[in-house]
Amino acid sequence: MDFELTEQQRLFRQTVRDFARKEVAPHASEIDEHERFPAELVRKIADLGLFGLSIPPAYGGHGGTLLEATIAMEELSWACPSTALAWGVCISLYGSSLLKGGDEEQKKRFLTPVASGQHLGAFALSEASCGSDAAALRCHARRDGEGYVLNGAKYWISNGAEADYVVVYTTVDPALRTKGITAFVVEKGARGFSVGKLERKMGIRGTSTAELIFDDCRVPAANRLGPDGAGFRLAMNVLDASRIGIGAQALGIAQAAYDAALGYAKQRQAFGQPLAGFQAIQWMLADMATDLDAARLLLYRVATMVDKGVPFIKEACMAKLFATEMAERVCSKAMQVHGGVGYVKGSVVERCYRDQRVTSIYEGTSEIQRLTMARQLLAEGG
Ligand SMILES: Cc1cc2nc3c(=O)[nH]c(=O)nc-3n(C[C@H](O)[C@H](O)[C@H](O)COP(=O)(O)OP(=O)(O)OC[C@H]3O[C@@H](n4cnc5c(N)ncnc54)[C@H](O)[C@@H]3O)c2cc1C
Repeated sequence: MDFELTEQQRLFRQTVRDFARKEVAPHASEIDEHERFPAELVRKIADLGLFGLSIPPAYGGHGGTLLEATIAMEELSWACPSTALAWGVCISLYGSSLLKGGDEEQKKRFLTPVASGQHLGAFALSEASCGSDAAALRCHARRDGEGYVLNGAKYWISNGAEADYVVVYTTVDPALRTKGITAFVVEKGARGFSVGKLERKMGIRGTSTAELIFDDCRVPAANRLGPDGAGFRLAMNVLDASRIGIGAQALGIAQAAYDAALGYAKQRQAFGQPLAGFQAIQWMLADMATDLDAARLLLYRVATMVDKGVPFIKEACMAKLFATEMAERVCSKAMQVHGGVGYVKGSVVERCYRDQRVTSIYEGTSEIQRLTMARQLLAEGG
């Protein structure tokens, strides 16, 4: 077992870290304050080539491993989790839907422009009435001649307001439940497709979280990913691996909170000595560092499993569950170390505390991670 990154992986991490800390981090507070989509930072991430990560060269990408994508997500999230999410959705939820579900023509048409970062993608599965229970979705696709007509609405779609392409999960027959779910790529500007309400959020306030409305929206059959009914399996396959990225987002946020707490503990004086001199503070720092290390090991292990092509679903759930719940613990302790300073707007730990909270909700809540893991454990149990 080798717990070290290779020289190449260390260099990659350093490159993304330097970029994230120099170019992205200085803007995180203002992006959060103004709920502003960081278009200029997304362009810089594109210039760095990160939109091509995980996407094969045949479709405009640079290939690369999931471990590299995990490291990049961690580093970008340290700096600004909103910016990280805007990028992550494109390579992970959107990119994987195309890679796993698209034919050659669709990959060339819909993946290549996103791999360059010139265009953005989104993934629309959730609806107002169903998130965890995705099989209950109601957005309807009716066959009509050479194409389909879509009616319904999607909720909470990250990048929804900016995306040029959206993978939309619909049903051709709600009575069929999972067997009716069918995915399409819908292009921005398609007649009958519009962006509705934008949610105001507690954290990751720089990403749009949008309602998408389909009102007699015509989509050519050429935009359908796989046959009718193949969409549920596709969505689940995509989420199995993409949740590793959310674990990495949580890890990056928690690392930022810890780093701030460590620095503050050394500098802040109380009772004639730095906070770091008190054992109570030292124990908090030690527990935080242990939590971070454990989460990183779980995440890097499962990313490596995916890269090796071995079964990984249980380990992905473990890593996402642990990393996201760890982030809440670490950010809370980091705020405690800061005292009142950590509770006021403008402090890094205050933003981290809000930003991390969604990670145990989206791309499968903690309860759904436990449920999925338990299914696997019971099946293994003999
Ligand atoms: C900021 C943000 C961005 C998002 N981005 C996207 C996106 O880009 N694309 C997209 O498709 N969706 C997106 N979502 C939706 C997100 O994936 C869902 O919110 C999530 O899957 C949970 O679904 P829900 O909100 O409907 O909660 P529900 O499914 O209603 O669950 C409510 C509670 O009940 C629990 N629960 C549900 N079922 C069970 C069960 N069987 N056993 C035990 N407990 C259960 C849940 O764990 C949770 O605690 C986003 C959400 C947010 C907040």
